[in-house]
Amino acid sequence: MTDNAAALGALKRYFGYDSFRPGQSGLVEAILAGRDVLGVMPTGAGKSVCYQIPAMLLPGVTVVISPLISLMRDQVDGLNDAGIPAAFVNTTQSPDEQGMVLAQAARGDVKLLYVAPERLETDRFREFAARTPIALVAVDEAHCVSQWGQDFRSSYLGIGEFIAGLPSRPVVAAFTATATERVRRDIVAMLGLNTPQVTVTGFDRDNLYFDVIKMETKRKAAWVAAYVAEHADESGIVYCATRKETEALAAALNRTVPVLRGVSAGGNGTAGSVRTDSAQLESPSLGPIAVAYHGGMAADERNRAQRDFVTDRIPVVVATNAFGMGIDKSNVRYVIHHNMPGSIEDYYQEAGRAGRDGEPSRCTLLWNDGDIATRRRLLDSDYENDRMTPEEQERNRANKRRLLDGMVGYCRTTDCLHRYMTRYFGETEPADDGTGKAVKCKGGCTNCNSTFETLDVTDVARAISRCVHDVMYDWDDQGRPTRAPMRQGLGSSKIVAVLRGSRAQDVTSRGLDRCPSYGRLRETPEARVRDVLSQMTTDGFLFVSDGRLPIVGFGARAAETVVDGFHYEIKRVERAQPSCSVASRAAAGG
Ligand code: ADP
Repeated sequence: MTDNAAALGALKRYFGYDSFRPGQSGLVEAILAGRDVLGVMPTGAGKSVCYQIPAMLLPGVTVVISPLISLMRDQVDGLNDAGIPAAFVNTTQSPDEQGMVLAQAARGDVKLLYVAPERLETDRFREFAARTPIALVAVDEAHCVSQWGQDFRSSYLGIGEFIAGLPSRPVVAAFTATATERVRRDIVAMLGLNTPQVTVTGFDRDNLYFDVIKMETKRKAAWVAAYVAEHADESGIVYCATRKETEALAAALNRTVPVLRGVSAGGNGTAGSVRTDSAQLESPSLGPIAVAYHGGMAADERNRAQRDFVTDRIPVVVATNAFGMGIDKSNVRYVIHHNMPGSIEDYYQEAGRAGRDGEPSRCTLLWNDGDIATRRRLLDSDYENDRMTPEEQERNRANKRRLLDGMVGYCRTTDCLHRYMTRYFGETEPADDGTGKAVKCKGGCTNCNSTFETLDVTDVARAISRCVHDVMYDWDDQGRPTRAPMRQGLGSSKIVAVLRGSRAQDVTSRGLDRCPSYGRLRETPEARVRDVLSQMTTDGFLFVSDGRLPIVGFGARAAETVVDGFHYEIKRVERAQPSCSVASRAAAGG
């Protein structure tokens, strides 16, 4: 029997499935052929099967390294129910129990052994590993090994060494739901993967309509209320940045949505007429429209909120990011982000809770420059973690800054939002549809549905680029550079100040008013200069260094700005938003 046929047989026998999902069969076959793999697949795509099937077919035991002790029992129970001999060793067991499980595994009575990474460092486990043939080491949540990822865990650093110390090298299979190119390189290096087969699949959710709207903070609540009112028969999640905001917004929705519904239902409606109208909810509710959910609420309150939402008694939950883990509700029709999250990873995870049932659903992100500034400020103050050395803290901060840049890029891009997302996760995409045309945005997104009013900012971009160069020198009174580059450069606010000809003391006292770029963009609104600078960073023309005082330098595409024919644009006016109902129906229909 070929590996493929054996794998399909095992899939059917143990799990009852007739076919592999995209990506699974390639990974299973590679592992069976003895090749290391890295599988990058979104949550729910079916990563576990990729190592569970080989574990059943390979001789010897498979060690599964997973950071979540709390989930091990469920996972193992599920496997045992399917007739798979699996077990775990962790700190919830007595030393005797642990010893018993290891003895069973050493005898070959356990095919899948789940452990946390810390376990690998114990003498007892090392002893076990030295005398037991280990066929496969599967590393779940492999991004935890990377300091560039979101959830770095130092215990993951020991995995590579553990594998290297085994008497015979097992196949190593790493899996994660979130890994950018950089994190992937780290995983391969830190786990010592041997020319692994890397498979990245399934990040594009084509039933989701992605929508990005730049909006002043004070308009956001009214926008959300209008949206909720127009979609009163649908279930939705609204994510806010703080606990206070969730409560305020939930209260505002309960106050205003009934009124809006009354008006839209009959023209002269009152909150009373809304009650009848909202009977079109699947389970007619006379109760509130929205409920808040955050980590500061008492457990029973939180559970009630969750239950009311999951059972459709209350259509909308207004939550912090504490909401969602382990909540299984398939018919969420929209996820609105009232504030911009700190990374695409977070955004994808939260927005992805819409449309689990595959029906058309909408993910809307409301943002403004203030959100970005708040995020950046938080980054710089947030990191007083005394378990980290100053260098580690700095690296951590720099990393979060980079993740934030990815998120900001999503807000600003005029490119297809589906494409931005899948590119971010490194999914390989066909360059065209076979006819030479770019692949169409499948689920739909505002960018593909809008014509942007763009503004030619070529001159502004060139001036910024020039200024970044100029401020590295010192100048004489005629504006001639006097020496070789002698300054490190400046941060972005200072660059903007120089270009706008600021008289601020820290500009003049440092002699920056003698710089040839000084005042060159005096006539351009400050916000525009900032916008262009920020977009140039996103687009790779500029590069903002890490460190406590980030400095603007040149990015990989810097040279393009001095080439004849260089042309640069930004979105000019935020496009007029179509009424939310129209946009949503259009998305649902198309
Ligand atoms: P992940 O680890 O990627 O989050 P899981 O391995 O938990 O995902 O799988 C998610 C769900 O998909 C599980 O219920 C699993 O049984 C199911 N599943 C996995 N592979 C297949 C398949 N080939 N066909 C149908 N269902 C599958």
